Amino acid sequence: MSSSYFADSDGYYGEFGGAFVPEMLHANIEELQSRYLEIISDRNFQAELNSLLRDYAGRPTPLYFAPRLSEKKSAKIYIKREDLLHTGAHKVNNTLGQILLAQRLGKKRIIAETGAGQHGVATATVCAMMGIECIVYMGAMDVERQAPNVARMKMMGAQVVPVHSGSKTLKDATNEALRDWINNPDSTHYIIGSVVGPHPFPDMISRFHAITSEEIRRQLTEHEGRELPNTVIACVGGGSNAIGAFYHFIDEAAVKLIGVEAAGCGVDSGQTAATMTLGTPGVLHGSMSLLLQNDDGQIQEAHSVSAGLDYPGVGPQHAHLHKTKRAHYVSITDQQALDAAFELARLEGIIPALESAHAFAYLLEYSAEPDEVIVVNCSGRGDKDMAAYLKHLEKEKA
Ligand SMILES: *Cc1c(COP(=O)(O)O)cnc(C)c1O
Repeated sequence: MSSSYFADSDGYYGEFGGAFVPEMLHANIEELQSRYLEIISDRNFQAELNSLLRDYAGRPTPLYFAPRLSEKKSAKIYIKREDLLHTGAHKVNNTLGQILLAQRLGKKRIIAETGAGQHGVATATVCAMMGIECIVYMGAMDVERQAPNVARMKMMGAQVVPVHSGSKTLKDATNEALRDWINNPDSTHYIIGSVVGPHPFPDMISRFHAITSEEIRRQLTEHEGRELPNTVIACVGGGSNAIGAFYHFIDEAAVKLIGVEAAGCGVDSGQTAATMTLGTPGVLHGSMSLLLQNDDGQIQEAHSVSAGLDYPGVGPQHAHLHKTKRAHYVSITDQQALDAAFELARLEGIIPALESAHAFAYLLEYSAEPDEVIVVNCSGRGDKDMAAYLKHLEKEKA
């Protein structure tokens, strides 16, 4: 892809992107920048990745025509079932790609940061599978809040390091992971978990997730006799599942692309993760993008009921797609997402992750044209969110 919607050779998407890293990391970042394209386009790399995606992760994931949802919306609704992947979400597309890359770079040690623990689990998984040491940095508060995922990581042999600085959440864990990388530049690869971070991470990670839209084109041809849907809807935290679902449609102007971010308690509530709606340009975690920050450039804490969308930044490509109006970004509150998860569960027998429920919530309020073909990306399954769903059910009954 070489249109203006993709990264230039310095990793810029218009004014967003780039690589803002401390001096000590220049060598690592330059190594990655100069080698990632050659490594990931190598035929042996591709063959190995494709066989793992198929036999280990479970690709291709189905594109499911949802009859009852379609009837309700008087449109043709398809659900891309990334929730059926190994570990229960799309994140394994990226960690599989990066573990093979780390191997090609001769790295013996993997570090990652995680908030909700989903990326930590996807990283611990591929490290166990390859027999590589894995250290996951996690805010001390998140270690407590996300106990089941901490247990999964430990069971697969990863070392989980609680971070006690700052607000003891994701951005503090990210700072700690960067510090580790600075201290261990030769032995270690840092697996970033979304389309964020310094160039080349956003571009590289979007290529690993692009398989989602590649499959949608092929599968839609089987279902509908055409490759292009009218509309694609996906939730946006850092933006990786959405970029995966958009990727092969970005240069198809006829396809409407909709990213759904978390409004939390409401866009104006002060407790929100609506980065596109409220964000202003700034640098966070190595790249220029839109951020939730105050007038002094202090990063504001994000809030969402779904831990995976609870991030004060967004990938630079999304910031660019927003600015150029190629994609549209909307927001959905905690309450709407919870309601939508129940609606999907009862209409189609699919319990989505709370993150994915934001995409379905927007679908429910979207006014579709008759026979509009809409693909909703179901980025993950809801098992990890059963406590939140149970609480919602109790409230519904009361
Ligand atoms: C992590 C996660 C997200 C948010 O991350 P993106 O990079 O925006 O995709 C969305 N859905 C699920 C199921 C997740 O685990």
